Amino acid sequence: MNHIPLPKLLCDCRCPQHHQLPRTTVNEPGCACTITCATQPMTLLVPQWRSALFLTPHGMRFVNALDAGQWDWAESGQLDPGYADFPMGQLLEHLLRASAIAIDNSDR
Ligand SMILES: [Zn+2]
Ligand SMILES: [Zn+2]
Repeated sequence: MNHIPLPKLLCDCRCPQHHQLPRTTVNEPGCACTITCATQPMTLLVPQWRSALFLTPHGMRFVNALDAGQWDWAESGQLDPGYADFPMGQLLEHLLRASAIAIDNSDR
């Protein structure tokens, strides 16, 4: 189980594990959080890869899409911080971090 300090927001997506609770683990079995759950950090949907990438304080994680809008949280994983096998990873992490900083410092 990978515990990551997500923002102190409560699940608002009717996930059977987390509804109205904080979500401190993203790969908990039985989690059915949506990608738009209030607990989900800055996320990049990548339909070409049927996955989503998202920022954590320790780098980026991925989650693969299942059918019918579900996500395979149990098999979600941390990306190698050196991105040895994933050259796009470094660029995408940089762009997501830059977006998060710009948005945090702007009203809109
Ligand atoms: Zn959940
Ligand atoms: Zn949720």
